[in-house]
Amino acid sequence: MEILDKQSIWQVRNSYLGVYVHFPYCFKKCDYCDFYSEGIGAAPANDEQSLFKSYQKEILDRISHFPEIKKRTIDTVFFGGGTPSKASPEHWKNLLDFLRSEFSFSENPEISIEVNPEDLSSELLEKYHSIGINRVNVGVQTLEKKGLEFLGRHYDEDRYHSLVEILTKSPIKRVGIDLMYGIPGVSKESFLSDLDLFLKAGLPHLSLYSLTLEKGTQYSRDVTDHKKLEPEENLQSEILTQLPSILKEQGYLWYEVSNYAKPGFESLHNLKYWTYEPYLGLGPGAHGMIAGHRYGNPRNAALYQKKETSTKYEKIDPSTELSFTLFRLFSPFRYLDFIETYLDTKTKSKYIKTIEAWEKKGLCSIENEIFQWKPEALLLLDDLILEITL
Ligand code: SF4
Repeated sequence: MEILDKQSIWQVRNSYLGVYVHFPYCFKKCDYCDFYSEGIGAAPANDEQSLFKSYQKEILDRISHFPEIKKRTIDTVFFGGGTPSKASPEHWKNLLDFLRSEFSFSENPEISIEVNPEDLSSELLEKYHSIGINRVNVGVQTLEKKGLEFLGRHYDEDRYHSLVEILTKSPIKRVGIDLMYGIPGVSKESFLSDLDLFLKAGLPHLSLYSLTLEKGTQYSRDVTDHKKLEPEENLQSEILTQLPSILKEQGYLWYEVSNYAKPGFESLHNLKYWTYEPYLGLGPGAHGMIAGHRYGNPRNAALYQKKETSTKYEKIDPSTELSFTLFRLFSPFRYLDFIETYLDTKTKSKYIKTIEAWEKKGLCSIENEIFQWKPEALLLLDDLILEITL
């Protein structure tokens, strides 16, 4: 990637493939969570062994459905969930070996894992380091006890207290955390003080996002039953608009609505979702996008292991997909490169007209075929993206 003023400029990359693996088990299902996940307590999952076998089977099935994906080079692998740090590192190692036996890998692939605070330890990071995992993200959400209780999250206070020290001494240097704001009962000051702790520790990647109310979750039922309050939207907008300048002062690049990184520490895997690059999604509840098609796996671990891999693929409409992904980026990107690669003439001219209108309104800059949002666009983003799709 080209570097200009330390900012990467994203462009079309046609020969790579990302891999996402969904491990669906957690210690406890959090009340607000709408990912496919099941709370199973501290013990390992009964079906861990067979689940990892099923991942291998799915890899072979997807290759047989789309043999052309083997020509691509894997440059990112992401173990997510659920709580993938609940699974044994040996299983992750074997899965990586299996992927390496089926695909070619780039020279320095990004291999990430999500870790929950209850599993984080120096020993675990050493182990991950030794098997080639080189990026770790910890789902902290908040350090406030009442915030964790509101979210219905399992927590171990000692682990929460030691996580900054463990991450700063980690043998894996690409480390980051998720923090959440707008949790009822957690003040702006309290969120900013949590953030300050991680900024002072100099963690190179921060995902800062607002609590949302998702249908079908325990949290949403509790709100309907008047047992819990909705997320604090006014506070969320206030924090959302203040974050870019706070983070900039500390040397972070704002590269996506909710994501900040020190230069060179962006999540290359998550960037695939925003720059329309293909990825293989494996496991129950996982989604994938390969060869111009999307697919989704059943949100049920037993069914996933029992049933044949589905051959149901939905053809992608690049015009809608591109608008919902690319325009979430706040770092610069070669917009003409994307538009010319993926869109037909009619849609292309609609995109260009809309982008030029945004520029006239002072919402973005366009220079040398490079597009970048201005901070003024942030609160309008959802509506602006609709302008380009409608
Ligand atoms: S730990 Fe993460 S994936 Fe698991 S239930 Fe909580 S939010 Fe969902």
